[in-house]
Amino acid sequence: MTGEPATTTGRCYACKSTFSFDPQKVETMLVDPETNRPPGITALGTLRPALPDAVARSIDEPICPECIEKARRITKTLNLQQQWDGEPPTSN
Ligand SMILES: [Zn+2]
Repeated sequence: MTGEPATTTGRCYACKSTFSFDPQKVETMLVDPETNRPPGITALGTLRPALPDAVARSIDEPICPECIEKARRITKTLNLQQQWDGEPPTSN
């Protein structure tokens, strides 16, 4: 009971695989239990304003490190695309 990290086992919300994690440190995603999706995301995967009551009833679901890594890569790609669509790079 001393020095050991407190780990628990749960299911990743994104890929449904079971993994162990430290509940204090695990990355989570807010999920609305009524729609089983994050508040603000529609069935089509498009964004809409998150309703306050949807946010209020939402719970944090754990996300496994693999999915976090995947999400980071996607976010990076989207950011790059946004950059290309917008202002040209100003450095150099
Ligand atoms: Zn996962």
